[in-house]
Amino acid sequence: GSAATTAAIATEDRFVAHNYAPLPVVAAAAEGAWITDLDGRRYLDCLAAYSAVNFGHRNPELTAVAHAALDTATLVSRAFRAAPLGPFAAALARLCGKQLVLPMNTGAEAVESGLKVARKWGTEVKGVPAGSANIVVAENNFHGRTISIVSFSSDRTARRGFGPFTPGFRSVPFGDADALAAAVDEHTVAVLLEPIQGEAGVIVPPDDYLPRVRAICTRRNVLLIADEIQSGLARTGETFACAHWGVVPDIYLLGKALGGGIVPLSAVVADADVLGVLNPGEHGSTFGGNPLATSIGSAVVAMLERGEFQARSRELGAHLHARLRALAGVGVVAVRGKGLWAGVDVDPALGTAEQLSGLLAQRGVLVKDTHGATLRFAPPLIISADEIDWAIEQFAGAIADA
Ligand code: PLP
Repeated sequence: GSAATTAAIATEDRFVAHNYAPLPVVAAAAEGAWITDLDGRRYLDCLAAYSAVNFGHRNPELTAVAHAALDTATLVSRAFRAAPLGPFAAALARLCGKQLVLPMNTGAEAVESGLKVARKWGTEVKGVPAGSANIVVAENNFHGRTISIVSFSSDRTARRGFGPFTPGFRSVPFGDADALAAAVDEHTVAVLLEPIQGEAGVIVPPDDYLPRVRAICTRRNVLLIADEIQSGLARTGETFACAHWGVVPDIYLLGKALGGGIVPLSAVVADADVLGVLNPGEHGSTFGGNPLATSIGSAVVAMLERGEFQARSRELGAHLHARLRALAGVGVVAVRGKGLWAGVDVDPALGTAEQLSGLLAQRGVLVKDTHGATLRFAPPLIISADEIDWAIEQFAGAIADA
C-alpha cells in the first residue's frame, strides 16, 4: 500500500484495542456493493459488514430518510415519546406477525434482552421457581460478546480469561433434536438458536430439525427464541430463515440490517404474553428506539415488505451456489448456505482461509474467514450476477495463486 495506507494502519494499531485482526484494506468510501480504499483501489464487498449492509452501502432510499431525520430529531430518550417510534414498532410487528417490539441497539443487546424476557416469563408466567430457570442453547453458537452470552459459547478464545460466567445455560449439539429434547426439563424457559449458524461457518441444520424443535418447545411450554440477527431480513431469500422450514418462533431477535447499515438498531419481537412481562423501570436503553434509528428502521421494513430483496437473494443465491459448487475438487471441499449466503470450506493444502482471504483482497474481493478453513460469502443483496461471476473468477484465481 501507499504511505497514507501504511500510516493509517499504524495509527489504528497504535490507538485501537487489538480485538480484531483486519485485512490491510483501509476503507475511505463505500457505495452499493463496492468499497474504495485510501489509494482509490476498489473492492467488491462480499462480507456486507456481517450482513448489516444487506441493502448496499449508502442505499439512497435509506440515506434520504437518515438525512431527513438528522434535520428533524435524532435522540430524545424514552423518558419522552418520539414520533417515529410507534410507526416503526407497528411496521416491524406486522412484518414479524407479532404484537410487540422492544427496541435496542446492538445484536448482543437484543440477545441479552431476549434472555431477560424469557427468564422473567419463566418465573411469572410458567411458574419456574425464582433463580432456577435454565435456557438451552446450541454448541458452536454465536450470539455476541457480553459476559452472559460468552458464558454459553463453545469458543475457547471467546471465553478465556473472562470468567466468572453467568449460570443457567445448557449446550447441546446443533442439529440434534433428540439431544435438545433430553436437555429440556421443568425449569427450562427457552431454547435459543440461530436457525442457520453464521459464525460457525454457515451451518444449515437437517430439514426436520427446526420443526422438531418447535414441537418440543410447544409441548414443554418453552419459548423458542430465534436469533435472526445475521440470518434474517432477506439474507437467506426469506424475510426470516425460520420460514424455510415453516417455523414461527415465539421471539425473534433482529439487528444488523435492521439499521440499514447506517445506525445500530436491534429489536426483540414477540407477542404480548411474552414481551408484556416488562414493566416500567425493569429494562431500558438510552439510545433504544431513538428517532434517527427508528426512522431508518421503518424504511428498512418497508423495503422488506416489497419482497424484492428476498427474491434477489433467492435468484442470485442460486447462481452463487452453482458457481461455488463448480469449484468442488479444485480447491473447494464443501459449500453450504441458503440465498446469498455461503460458507465455503477450502482445501487445507492451499493454506488457511485467512491466507486465502488475503489473496482475494489483493484481487479486489473482500471476504472474511471463519474457523480456520471456511470462507464466508455474504455480499450486499444489491450485487449483480456479473459481479458475482467476477468474484468467482477472482476466487478461482486466488486458489490458483495459493
Ligand atoms: N447474533 C448473531 C447470530 C450474530 O451473527 C451476531 C454478530 O455477528 C450477534 C448476535 C451480535 O451482534 P452485535 O455484534 O451487533 O452485538
